[in-house]
Amino acid sequence: MKVTARSLNRDPRNPRIRRSWGLSLCITGLVFSSAFLLYGTENPTPAIKLDQVGYLDGAPKVALVASPAKTFEIRRSSDGRVVFRGALSPAATDPLSGDTVQAADFSGLRQAGTYYVEVPGVGKSWTFAVGANVFERTWYLAMRGFYGQRCGTAVDLGREFPGYSHAACHLHGEFHPSSGKSGPRDNIGGWHDAGDYGRYMVNSGVATGTLLWAWEIYGPRLKPIQLAIPETGNGTPDILNEIRWNLEWMLKMQDTDGGAWHKQTSTHFPGFIPPEKDTLPSEVIGTGSAPYKSTCATADLAAVAAIAARVYRPFDAAFATRALDAARRAWKWTEQYPNVIFRNPPGVTTGEYGDSNCADERLWAAAELWRTTGEAAYNQFFLKNYAAYLPILDSPARENWSMMAPMALRTYALARREGADATAQAAIRDRMLSAARAIVKNTAANPYHVSLKPADFVWGSNGIAAQYGMDLLIANAIAPNPAFADTAGDDLHYLLGRNTFSLSWVTQVGQHSVLHPHHRPSGSGEQPGPWPGLMSGGPNAGRQDQVLAALPAGLQPEKYYADQTASYASNEIAINWQANLVFLLAGQLH
Ligand SMILES: [Zn+2]
Repeated sequence: MKVTARSLNRDPRNPRIRRSWGLSLCITGLVFSSAFLLYGTENPTPAIKLDQVGYLDGAPKVALVASPAKTFEIRRSSDGRVVFRGALSPAATDPLSGDTVQAADFSGLRQAGTYYVEVPGVGKSWTFAVGANVFERTWYLAMRGFYGQRCGTAVDLGREFPGYSHAACHLHGEFHPSSGKSGPRDNIGGWHDAGDYGRYMVNSGVATGTLLWAWEIYGPRLKPIQLAIPETGNGTPDILNEIRWNLEWMLKMQDTDGGAWHKQTSTHFPGFIPPEKDTLPSEVIGTGSAPYKSTCATADLAAVAAIAARVYRPFDAAFATRALDAARRAWKWTEQYPNVIFRNPPGVTTGEYGDSNCADERLWAAAELWRTTGEAAYNQFFLKNYAAYLPILDSPARENWSMMAPMALRTYALARREGADATAQAAIRDRMLSAARAIVKNTAANPYHVSLKPADFVWGSNGIAAQYGMDLLIANAIAPNPAFADTAGDDLHYLLGRNTFSLSWVTQVGQHSVLHPHHRPSGSGEQPGPWPGLMSGGPNAGRQDQVLAALPAGLQPEKYYADQTASYASNEIAINWQANLVFLLAGQLH
């Protein structure tokens, strides 16, 4: 229900969408004809499924073949020379997709290069790379995807993606009557949340927090990667420059009393138009009655600003101090108003991100404030409340924006700080590690080597696949284990092409990637293809849109996916799933 609320009133019958389909068909033709030229008379076959970006040289390397065969070869793409030969494994049927597949294990191939798989009688695969840092460009594109989502400023992807630009958008904001105030309130900045142009505090909270954690765990490897954004070269690492664009907007959503309004959006979704052509006023929307701000939004702000206070300290002490002050004031507000729930006020039909319980958001805020300050009051709040949430570590939250307890618990376990309660830290670590071992076991038993379970094929299942990988990587940060890291790599391989559709779910990554995301800038028809680096939500057996509803009933859950703009329930992009992808990719860099 919560997720359904995200896309309320997204009308798939919008004529602008139909027009973009026409264009989309042309793009599909172009892509296939270029692949045809590359491979001469034989197109790559979707019957061979692999990560179209590649495999780390020292990691396991498995492709899957969904057509009966006995042997396979790995050939160098420059000259077709065979570099590896092997026998396919016995066939196994995948319960998630219904596919019967055989594994081609070429883990023994460690030499860097670009290759393809050839299976006699079946065909050739799309190409892939083997190397020490094959995922760096994908990380760059995925992180730069946030730059493309910037609101309130002109965006231009530059020579690398000519024509991918938009003028400054949503410069005119005002207080909606539900906010308790009136008059203009621009709050320029932030990231467009998803396929729409709204800005929502709770989804910003989990997305921004996840990205800041990527920095905290993988900072040394992320620091040198420049993103070609306006701030590049200012002395601050670019990932932090990009995150700050959204942080500044989140801070502007805080009222003078410390509370944060829930969202800033138009009252209804615009059509499939570029952002600067959306002239609906951007409204600061509140709960409709005192205190007008919501506890979930305010607690998320407290948590994220507390992380920012420690992360930005070495680069901009004044900003760090400002963030910490905002976090403290937000926390105080939640003490006074521990559970003010947001629901869309009458006449507002944009995403709701409604959450009936903000106790887990407060737990996260307390944990991050304690980790940053070491102050006893935050520690005591955490210790009084954490234990009931331990079972949540056993499986990822389906809607990660509404359940912040896993981040609360993990940040406490990760903290290296005096005053930490050793019993609590040990309990959390034990639970995280046993959960990670269970994920490894489940993934190893799946023929596609993906951590997803049948019940995970809900709205945003690709975000959940990335979340499994993240959970494993965080466990690996606490207790290094090659099985954790390799299994996280398996979840990435699923997202980048080793799946039933042989499709890379990240736009413009891999030779056969998603073309028609439910994403207004991509669907407005102004660019030759989708904006790059964005991850589609993925298969969704809930089938909440008309495209999925029209598919036959009774399919395996992974089959409920359509690469169509109108399938908002399976093909939208969103910053929270995108942040998980960035984290998962960061874990594969060196
Ligand atoms: Zn905008």
